[in-house]
Amino acid sequence: MEHILSNRINNLSESATLAMACLCRELKLQGHNVIDLSLGEPDFNTPDIVKNAAKAAIDNNFTFYTPVSGYLDLRKAICNKLKRDNNLDYAPDQIVVSNGAKHSIANAVLCLVNPGDEVIVPAPYWVSYSEIIKLAEGVPVYIEAKIDSDFKVTPEQVEAAITPKTKLFLFSSPCNPTGSVYSREELKKLADVFAKHKNIYIISDEIYEHINFNGGHQSLAQFDFIKENVITINGVSKGFAMTGWRIGYMAAPKFIAKACDKLQGQITSAPSSIAQKAALMAMNTDLSVVREMVKVFKERRDLVLSLLKEIPGLKTNTPEGAFYVYPEISYYIGKSDGKTTIKTDDDFCMYILKSVQVAIVPGSAFGTPNYIRISYATSNDLLIEAIKRIKKALSELK
Ligand code: PMP
Ligand code: GLU
Repeated sequence: MEHILSNRINNLSESATLAMACLCRELKLQGHNVIDLSLGEPDFNTPDIVKNAAKAAIDNNFTFYTPVSGYLDLRKAICNKLKRDNNLDYAPDQIVVSNGAKHSIANAVLCLVNPGDEVIVPAPYWVSYSEIIKLAEGVPVYIEAKIDSDFKVTPEQVEAAITPKTKLFLFSSPCNPTGSVYSREELKKLADVFAKHKNIYIISDEIYEHINFNGGHQSLAQFDFIKENVITINGVSKGFAMTGWRIGYMAAPKFIAKACDKLQGQITSAPSSIAQKAALMAMNTDLSVVREMVKVFKERRDLVLSLLKEIPGLKTNTPEGAFYVYPEISYYIGKSDGKTTIKTDDDFCMYILKSVQVAIVPGSAFGTPNYIRISYATSNDLLIEAIKRIKKALSELK
């Protein structure tokens, strides 16, 4: 029956991260002892203060449609946050609150990209970027950064990828899937490139802002000379352990915010009133609760890196943010346990899942085959057990 469906949906790939998470849930339901290192979501509970704000929102009847771009008090709180944490000046009419950062990115891309427009995306990239671009009938142009350059693209690579058709540049820092964090100097060099191309807009996905192990977060919009071309994406999903609440936002030039408000008004009206009140509390709360989580993530990163070092052939860098490690696995391509031959990163992940029940995501989903993504947003005990299992499975490959 697929021919009944639109080309738009038939051409769209399923989210590999969500697909792997779904497979894990099914296997667990069937009684398999699967350890899920596939999904990128904090394993912490949402802070009580935030949960209580949501309960109060219900009791106080914040249960009606809200303004399309979100309650004014929330947008003001986001402006205060952007000033407090990032030294960025935005007015509430430059903020659009959406159903998660993913929705904010989709709004921005759909409002800016015409069919045939090129969008430059550093690879490895987050799985949904390519598909959102395709949904807008844009053309993703990938520029690859390898592990040896800490998965960061150079200004020269960006400059070389620019054509008269380039409309957007879309990237994340801290990066999903690599955990790489661009320094202020590195961002400045990218900004210098964009300063020469004022017809190019930049979506700076900063959803992992708080999960940064090397000091303060750097926003691309801090460079005033390109700020008018930058759309900053952020939200509460990662920093405040609120993935299920579905609140993200953009800070953008006013005409882009207005366009996204129009689009959102026709498609979803607005995000949930209750989740918005919870997000308002998160915006206004002090960041000590976030710092506690980050401390734990950093310990887990160190643990995972030290355990992975004991496995021959897995090459890693040192991620400075987010909660992923992105090892290179070429060493295992072509090897076999006598029954299964590992020809691709997909085979590698399926072999690990089937033989030792650990779920990880193949690098090809992020635009770079021969890598795997391991999410370490889970307990030390599970991480130790999972990596022990991976080590055992890989030791069978000759
Ligand atoms: N950007 C990146 C890089 C992500 O990893 C995620 C994770 N889901 C998102 C955006 C979307 O976040 P949200 O859950 O707020 O939609
Ligand atoms: N961003 C997370 C991940 O990469 C959550 C899943 C998703 O939204 O794709 O695993």
